[in-house]
Amino acid sequence: MKYILSIDQGTTSSRAIVFDENQNIISESQKEYQLHYPKDGWVEANPDEILGTVKETIKKALEISEVDIAACGITNQRETVVLWDRLSGKPIYPAIIWQDRRTSDLCNELKKKENLESEIRKKTGLLLDPYFSATKIKWILDNVENARKMAENGELCFGTIETYLVWNLTKEKKHKTDATNASRTMLMNLETLEWDNSLLEIFNIPKSILPEICSCDDNFGSIDVSNQRFPITGVIGDQQSALFGQNCFEFGEMKSTYGTGCFLMVNTKEKIYKSEAKLLSTVGCMLGNKVSYALEGSIFSAGTSIQWLRDEMRFFDDSSKSEDLIDDEFDSKGVNFIPAFTGLGAPHWNSEIRGSIHGIQRDSSKEDLTTAVFKAICFQTLEIVEALELDGVSVSSLKVDGGMVKNRKFLQLLSNTLSTNIKKPDQIESTAVGAFKIALLGSGIKNIDEIQEIGSYDEFKSNKSPQLNDDYQIWKAYLTRNL
Ligand code: ADP
Repeated sequence: MKYILSIDQGTTSSRAIVFDENQNIISESQKEYQLHYPKDGWVEANPDEILGTVKETIKKALEISEVDIAACGITNQRETVVLWDRLSGKPIYPAIIWQDRRTSDLCNELKKKENLESEIRKKTGLLLDPYFSATKIKWILDNVENARKMAENGELCFGTIETYLVWNLTKEKKHKTDATNASRTMLMNLETLEWDNSLLEIFNIPKSILPEICSCDDNFGSIDVSNQRFPITGVIGDQQSALFGQNCFEFGEMKSTYGTGCFLMVNTKEKIYKSEAKLLSTVGCMLGNKVSYALEGSIFSAGTSIQWLRDEMRFFDDSSKSEDLIDDEFDSKGVNFIPAFTGLGAPHWNSEIRGSIHGIQRDSSKEDLTTAVFKAICFQTLEIVEALELDGVSVSSLKVDGGMVKNRKFLQLLSNTLSTNIKKPDQIESTAVGAFKIALLGSGIKNIDEIQEIGSYDEFKSNKSPQLNDDYQIWKAYLTRNL
C-alpha cells in the first residue's frame, strides 16, 4: 500500500491529510492562522505564519499516521500574492489575500481605457477586478520601499501561495507554479499557457519575478521532514482541485462547493468559452502537456445565509438544525429571500445591491424564512446553470461538496430545482482529494483510469416540480426589481 500526503492551504486554515492509495484517510491535522484587516477593504496575512501552519500540520499528520509517504500534493487558496527576497527568502510585505479590495480604484481607472478590459478578458478569461493577483503585485511594487528596484535587479520573487510553499518546502528552492494557479493571476495567456508580455506591460510587472508555469502533475521538488523525503508530484488551485477530486473529467460535468460562499465549476475540455454571462474562463487542469479548461461562477453568500439565520435571527443554535425548519413540500408560503449581504456575484456582479426579504404576511414563520433562504441558494445555482446554457454549455451532471451538503433536504431541494440528479461523494473533502489524486498520477502510482474508480457517491433523484419553477420566476422578478 502506498501513502500520499495532501496539503490543503485555505483562506482561514491549513490542513494536511495522509491518504492511502484507495483514498481512505489515515490521519489529518488542521491549524488556523490569523487574517488581518489593517484598513477598510484590506485583507492580509503573515506568509511566515501560513508556512508555519503548513509545516506544523504536515509534521502532526505524519506523526499520527506512522507511515512512509510516497508523494505529496498541494492545493491552495488562489490569487493571494506573496513577494519575497530571492536571496534571503524573506517576504517584503504581508501576503495580500484574494478578498482584498485595495486596488478597486486602480481597476476602475484601467476600465476607462478603451478596449482594455475586453483585451484582458479575451486573453485571460477573467474580469478586470481586484480579486485577481495582477493589480495586487503592482500595488506592492509601487508602494513598498525598494520593491521595484529589487524587482528590476532580479532580486525579487513573486508567487501565489503554492509557489511560496514549493520554494520554502523543497531543498531545491524551485520557483514554480502550475497552470491552474497561473490562470488566476491575470498575467497568463489562456491559449499559450505562458506569461503574456502585453499584460505584463499593462500592469508594469517585470517578467524576472515570475515563476515557471508547469503542468499540475510535474515534479515540483522534494520535501525533507521527520526523517522522510518525498516528492511533490501534484499542485492545483483549490476550486480546480475539487473539480478533479470529484472526477469531473468529461465535458459538461460540474461540481458545486457549498461552503461559506458557493463556487461552481464546469469542465469544458479543450474549449475556451467567452462567456456572455460574465462567468470566468480558467484552466481546469493540466496533465503533461494536455490542458482542459473550465467555466467558473461564484455565489458570494451560501453558508453565510445559514449563519445569519443562526447568529442574527437566532432560529437555531447549530447549522445542522436548519434542516428541521425546511418545509417538507419546500413551500415558503410566499416568503422570498435575496441573499445579497455583500452584493451579488455571478451572473450579476453587482456590489451595490443588499439583501432583502419579500412577501412577509402576518403568519409568516421562521420555517417559512428558513425555507426561503434555502430556496434562494438553489435559485442562485439555477441562474448559473441557465447562464452556462446561454453560453452553450449544457450541464450533464452535478456533484456537490462543502459543509452545507450534510443537509439532505437542501440537496433534494437543489435536485428538484435544477431538474437534475445530484451526486454527493462519501468523502466530502473534495479539495484535498483532488491534490491527492493529482499526486497519485504525478508519482505514477495510478493512472487516470484507475483514479476514476476511486470513491463512491450518494445520489439524489430529481422530483420535477412545476410549482418550484413558478416560485423561481417570482423570486427572479423580485431580484430584477431590486437590481
Ligand atoms: P468554508 O470551507 O467556506 O469555511 P465549510 O465547507 O466548512 O465552509 O462549510 C461551512 C458552512 O456550512 C457554514 O456556513 C455552515 O453554516 C454551513 N453548514 C454546516 N452544516 C450545515 C447544515 N447541516 N445545513 C446547512 N448549512 C450547514
